Amino acid sequence: MWFLIFIIFIAIICSIVAFIRIRKNKYVKFIMENSIAIKNLIDNNNKYNFYNSSKNFNERHVYDNENFYEGISCEDYLIYQLQYKKYDVEKEINNFNYNKEKYKSYCKEISEISEFGKYVEENNKLNKNYLLKIEKELFNQMVLKPATNFKIHVVLCCSKINGVVYRNKKQDFSSEQITLLIKRLNNKNRDFYNDKEIWNALCRVERGRVSNKMRFSIYQRDGYRCCRCGRSEESDYLEIDHIKPIAKGGKSTYNNLQTLCRRCNKNKGDTY
Ligand SMILES: [Zn+2]
Repeated sequence: MWFLIFIIFIAIICSIVAFIRIRKNKYVKFIMENSIAIKNLIDNNNKYNFYNSSKNFNERHVYDNENFYEGISCEDYLIYQLQYKKYDVEKEINNFNYNKEKYKSYCKEISEISEFGKYVEENNKLNKNYLLKIEKELFNQMVLKPATNFKIHVVLCCSKINGVVYRNKKQDFSSEQITLLIKRLNNKNRDFYNDKEIWNALCRVERGRVSNKMRFSIYQRDGYRCCRCGRSEESDYLEIDHIKPIAKGGKSTYNNLQTLCRRCNKNKGDTY
């Protein structure tokens, strides 16, 4: 008995929901076909061809070495990445600036649309107030909100060797800040950066690309022996050396890394 009442109750609720939805759909259909305000809005939306970004320039990196994590700032990391991404980033900033400029006049034109409640064809069976309510709702949903503020979010994390992150730092960079960094990066003669701070930041990040994981795989590759004198010592006496030093443009790649004992590394210094 109670079960039957429950079923009937559910059925009534469902019918009410269905009825409301069908009624609303009827109003929406009428508005989309007849509202003059919405037609004006669509014309405006088509006229302004706003840039729609689908790219993600945010940066995230996990260091498994606390010294590198401490020594490298979010700005250092961004400068390093901008070496490779600056052209795409500049293009993106220009697109956002285009949006920003156009958005002002778009907003002005949209705010001047006032033909709410005016329809190409009238339908007296529809409730005027409800019609107006739905029309404004739809209008607000259809107003474009283009992206106008470009920024890059940088996150640096510090993890244990097993990958578990236990610290992180974050910083946002505005398009103005990024443009300035690119300008400083571009200030160079051939391979020589005129801005010493930029060069130091690049070196810090390059050095930091040798993770602990990478370090141990280099030791393993070299058989836990110094590549110069062949000494095999406790691994805390061995060091990782950049064959072509970072200060001379060397990279932290497997081919440019070798195992040296502390003494040989000291003698080699920054020579290549
Ligand atoms: Zn040695």
